Parts: sequence; C-alpha cells; structure tokens
Amino acid sequence: MKCSGRGKFAGLILAVALAWGLYASAAGAADLAPREEAALFSLADLGPVDASPQTVTVELYVGPEPELADCRRMSAQVWQQVVQFYARLGVNLVEVAGEAQPGPLAPAQRLRIELLPDKQWLARSYRAFDVAPPFQLRFLQVCLDKCAFAHLNLSTIHVSFKRFQKAEFSPDPQDAGLNRHWMANLLIHELGHLLGLYHSFEFTDDPVALETKTTSITPNFMSHDIAFKSDLGFVDFQNRMIHSYLSGGKVFQQYQQVNFDALKYLELLKRYNNFHESPPTRSFKSGKVSYRLASSDRPQTFDDDDDDEDDD
Ligand SMILES: [Zn+2]
Repeated sequence: MKCSGRGKFAGLILAVALAWGLYASAAGAADLAPREEAALFSLADLGPVDASPQTVTVELYVGPEPELADCRRMSAQVWQQVVQFYARLGVNLVEVAGEAQPGPLAPAQRLRIELLPDKQWLARSYRAFDVAPPFQLRFLQVCLDKCAFAHLNLSTIHVSFKRFQKAEFSPDPQDAGLNRHWMANLLIHELGHLLGLYHSFEFTDDPVALETKTTSITPNFMSHDIAFKSDLGFVDFQNRMIHSYLSGGKVFQQYQQVNFDALKYLELLKRYNNFHESPPTRSFKSGKVSYRLASSDRPQTFDDDDDDEDDD
C-alpha cells in the first residue's frame, strides 16, 4: 500500500510481500516435472471450484498505544464494511480479537491484521522481509510512502495507521465517513492478497484484466483506484480464484507449490500462461505512476513499488 500524500488519491500498490519463503514450510511443495508445473499454473482452467460460502477467521489486532486512539475509535465501523464486502464474495470473515501474540495462523484459514504504531510497523516489516541492518536504510526509503504490507507467507497484514492517517485522511470532520471507507478499502485490498489474489493491473491479458475490460464494475478492489471509494467491485474470475484458494483447490495448490511466495507465484503465472505484464501506467487521478512487482531485483522486493517513480 502506498501513501501518496494528503489530497491525492493513492496509487494503491501491492503490499503483498515478497516472501523469500524463509517462513513458509516446504511441506506443500512437490517436485514437479515441467509439464506438471505448467499444468498446475495454467489459469486457463481452474478445475472444479467449490463455490459454497467459505469462512475465514481474522485476528484483528489494534495496539494499545496512544498513537492508535483514532484507529480504535473507527475500527469497528471499518471492519463492518470489510465484512460486508467479503460477504458479497461468499466469504464469511469471522473476527476474533487479536492478542498481542498471534494465535495459530494458517493460510486460507486464520489470518491476522495488525494495526501498529509506526515504529513497530517498521520493526515487524524488517523482520518479515528479513531485512538485515545493512539494508535497513534502503528499506526505510522504500517505506517512505508505504503504509501496509500483506505477508502471504505469514498470513499477516501489517499496517502503520499513523502513516496512513497522516498521508491520506481528510482532516475535515465532515469527511469522517470517507476516511472510514478508505481505511476499509485498504484492508479489503490487503486481505485480497491473503485470499490468493494478485493485482487486477498485474497483467494486460490475464482473465482478470480481460474480464475487467468488459464489465463496468469499477473500481476493482485489487486495483489502484480505491481511495475514498464508497463501493468496490470484483470480477467473477477473482471470485472463483478466492473460492479455489479457500477450498484447497487449484489456486491453493499453486501457492503451496511456491511456499506462499507471492513473487515466485507471479513469475510462474506469467511464464506458464504467457501473460504480459502491464507497463507502468499513470493513475489518472493522482498522476502517479502505478506499480507492479519488480521481480528482477531481490533487495528491492519489499513490495512492488520499485519501478521508476514519477513523483510530483
Ligand atoms: Zn496490493
């Protein structure tokens, strides 16, 4: 997630983490022959998808620090909007109050959202990305306009509420409802990553992009264009991907195969479906360049916001 500065619409970016696979268990990965791997990562056929409603438990943790007072005030209403959105997708989010220590997290079953003071957010991001001290300065720069990271391999989303509030919220009391929508949309988007989705703008010719072009349901919840929107949409293919993921279907098996490493996952999707990456595009609202995963440069892969940025 990118914080683009107050008064601007954010170019929402993947905050999905570029898992090194350090934390993921290797248990799920099988040794596949190239043809088997190609078949597994083909999105041309998702195989049988269990479309029945799925339940996911989410630990919602808001730190007790004074810095998070506004967050605590708004979190119940924000969460309600998140739940309502996913209900439309047939996903029943069950909230449990997060303790300081995570419970038994598991991909597709029990996830965790941590709304943290900024310092803690940075510290946990260092740890989650395994950023050693020599690289922490570089990471700090990368983080300058970030507010949130979704770590698929940890089943956890880290949010710096203060950063988000400072960079994005409208200070006008009349905009409190809009701020709540924006906050909810951020969590909806990041949860989308933990439910097996990549960005709707990742490729120009994948099923999501093709379907998005032919529907008027915008803005897509996995797109950039979600700041302050009171309503988000999704396409059917995303719905099927989520259900495939949550029911242990093909999409879940794909992620298992890469130990829930989102970067590796996209590489394999691209390779075996012959997808084309979207060129960096300008968000028409903010004039910002939008971003995709920079898969070529590991030290930079703290998120996908590593293309040349055209800050204004
Ligand atoms: Zn994202």
